[in-house]
Amino acid sequence: MIYLDYAATAPVPRAVAEEVQTILQNHYGNPSSQYAPGLEMKKNVEAWRQTVAAALDCPPDRLFFTSCGTEGDNWAIRAALWQNRHLGRHIVTTAVEHSAVLECCKWLVQDGYEVTYLQPDANGTITAQQVLSAVRPDTALVSIMLVNNELGNVYPVAEIAQNLPAVNPKTLLHTDAVQGLFTFSAKTLGADLIAVSGHKIGAPKGIGALYIGPRVRNPRPLLPGGGQENGFRAGTEATAQIAGFAKAAELRMANLPEDQRRLTALRAYALKKLAAIPDLEPVGQGGAAHILSVSLKGWPSQNIVNDLDSQGICISAGSACHQGKPSHVIKALRLPKKTASGVIRLSFGPDTTEAEIDACAAALQNHRNTRMPML
Ligand code: PLP
Repeated sequence: MIYLDYAATAPVPRAVAEEVQTILQNHYGNPSSQYAPGLEMKKNVEAWRQTVAAALDCPPDRLFFTSCGTEGDNWAIRAALWQNRHLGRHIVTTAVEHSAVLECCKWLVQDGYEVTYLQPDANGTITAQQVLSAVRPDTALVSIMLVNNELGNVYPVAEIAQNLPAVNPKTLLHTDAVQGLFTFSAKTLGADLIAVSGHKIGAPKGIGALYIGPRVRNPRPLLPGGGQENGFRAGTEATAQIAGFAKAAELRMANLPEDQRRLTALRAYALKKLAAIPDLEPVGQGGAAHILSVSLKGWPSQNIVNDLDSQGICISAGSACHQGKPSHVIKALRLPKKTASGVIRLSFGPDTTEAEIDACAAALQNHRNTRMPML
């Protein structure tokens, strides 16, 4: 199989799987228990927190484990709105966020919040100025993703963070950094809330983390209960998943500059290879090293995905979360119909090779030559 869909989820490296299995079988103590296996596990959880916090470059006591990126996004949004409940009920976000943010906002509208959805240009670009201009005296929250999961566009979160206090010093800034782990430092990014997810970097599914910065005072607990995660997110810790998250982060951190260089070169290689196919053009401004969005103009993306799948090549038609429905991100770009219908996403990881890209490019070329385009 050729797997070119790391933005959907990443394979779990053997060392991570072994770590998870060891914890499950040999170290199953509950971190809240007051005897040796419990106390040992409590210490371990804090050590793993330090490792994951190092990947975000944030203080460990400001990082809270969650079950996934979606949970982190929902918690961040609710925490910001709770803190600013006396300021107002206005939220600024973008039309190209992941549904973890957009669906949460939909519910909030039903609860009486007003949401401004910023529209991108045809490349998916959203400027800091666009965001800052939408902020009002009653804006409780700005939520903008760091890396778009369908286009790979990188949004100007640091610039927004720098300038937001001058526009409204109370407005909190959340960023969904699920596709951006290892490309930022929480310290320099300056967002108040940052959500990440383990399974995008080789951890098991079912683990994520939320950074809650110092401007978020006394965040409302997501899950009140037994006091875990400093009382903010109760529930017995998912120790094996947390261990897997830390191991995956450790592995990636160990090779970070080299991996980033490889991924950047690989994306450039893929773009050059694919751009040689007639009717194929890049989509989006790009920026992230691991995501490449292109359109085979006139050839419906779901047919491409199915054809490549039948040859053992996994790519995605937009986001895996949309499961065949037209993507809201591609719609927001307002591309010509034939371009929009042909958008596919290739995404890479540390193990992706040029040979895999070559095989994918050949399959795409073959699809273009042998399948009927839409009229
Ligand atoms: N945000 C972005 C940008 C994503 O790409 C994803 C997953 O695809 C999520 C949020 C949701 O993360 P999770 O699958 O961990 O809930």
